[in-house]
Amino acid sequence: MEKIFVVGAGFSGATIARLFAEIGYDVTVIDRRTTIGGNAYDCLDKNGIMIQPYGPHIFHTEEKRVFEFLSRFTEWYEYKHSVLASVKGKTVSLPISLSSLYTLFPKTKAQRIENALKNAFGEGATVPILELKNQSDPVLKDFAEFVYKNFYYTYTRKQWGLKPEELSDEVMTRVPVCVSDKAGYFNDEYQFMPKNGFTETVTNILKHPNIKLKLKTDAEKHLYFEDGKIYFDGKELEGKVIYTGRVEEIFGYKFGALPYRTLKFKFKTYNRPSYQNAAVVNYTANKKFTRVTEFTKFTCEKQAKTVIVREYAKKCKKADVPYYPIPTEKNKELYVKYFDEAKKYKDLYLLGRLAEYKHIDMDEAVLCAMQLFDKLSEGEI
Ligand code: FAD
Ligand code: UDP
Repeated sequence: MEKIFVVGAGFSGATIARLFAEIGYDVTVIDRRTTIGGNAYDCLDKNGIMIQPYGPHIFHTEEKRVFEFLSRFTEWYEYKHSVLASVKGKTVSLPISLSSLYTLFPKTKAQRIENALKNAFGEGATVPILELKNQSDPVLKDFAEFVYKNFYYTYTRKQWGLKPEELSDEVMTRVPVCVSDKAGYFNDEYQFMPKNGFTETVTNILKHPNIKLKLKTDAEKHLYFEDGKIYFDGKELEGKVIYTGRVEEIFGYKFGALPYRTLKFKFKTYNRPSYQNAAVVNYTANKKFTRVTEFTKFTCEKQAKTVIVREYAKKCKKADVPYYPIPTEKNKELYVKYFDEAKKYKDLYLLGRLAEYKHIDMDEAVLCAMQLFDKLSEGEI
């Protein structure tokens, strides 16, 4: 039986483990945590409310293939995510859309901006804030400054410790201004939540007779890389190694640590059924925290109590959980050094958010794992 060794039991590791198990490989998966699902791990709190200790996770995808794969392991309920922000006493839905204009400005001004947006970009367009800021039309310029200052600048400084201009486009294009009456935070065709949570979904993905799961097993302590060979507890590994942890760890941080943002979560339970008017409220222009998530709003079930989490972003130190890779040109150059180092090991494959040093959603994690599996199983790489 051919073997595959997978480091990490998040969506990336679990998906590729399952795919190889199904074609008859003997698969070992290790994770340093006591739990599976990576940062998507969820569990019930003491009041029986489903919470997500590593931050709010909402599933959405355009990829039918990903949705169909995951549907083998979970039932779903429909969930359309909505996010609010309050600025100058006015509450709007994010992303900013044509309907937000009429909440934020008097009618004639709102109409002027609406026309200018439609003329410049066309109805239905989505415009990244930095592109909007570059417009020469004074109506758009003035509007862009307002939106930038009140919705993007402070939030981005809190989240990343950087200005929007200092981050690569992949971050600032995630939440564009919409030239439409858009409702809801995401556009994707499939917007669902797993009926019994992400942990149960990943548990089912990993439930296969060919998969051996070892928790509390840290690759940093057990894996050893030397002269193109990979050893586990001193024994050379047979077969391929799929690694979804931090790439610097396996090479002893020889080029330095890749910078991350970490998050501090402050959970609070209230003895009332509702805390806020949407699942997530972003604090885009004030407060030290970035956003408040109310978990009971994900399920829409009536409860006597509710639970929220406030997120505080900060620089990630060695002992912290590395949540967000920081995509700047400089950091990407540093990543390439580790990537080149990894290429010296012909059986080593880097996969996922940490190993590839890029912010990916769960659906992208599943898709990338499927694509790597396709290439490996068809002998393309
Ligand atoms: P991870 O989930 O990070 O899993 C990696 C696993 O590897 C972990 O279990 C870790 O313990 C293990 N590991 C690492 N190093 C080692 C080692 N040395 N030895 C053994 N095990 C190791 N996506 C969405 O689709 N929707 C959302 O709403 C959403 N919200 C998010 C909110 C936050 C705060 C964050 C940080 C991410 C969010 N994501 C969201 C992204 C989502 O978490 C990732 O796409 C997904 O977790 C990627 O999975 P992964 O398996 O690549 O990485
Ligand atoms: N962003 C912002 N204001 C908002 C929402 C998002 O400035 O109200 C910026 C911010 O830099 C953030 C990025 O857009 O990190 C991506 O937002 P998203 O909601 O996708 O963040 P995630 O859920 O991935 O943390």
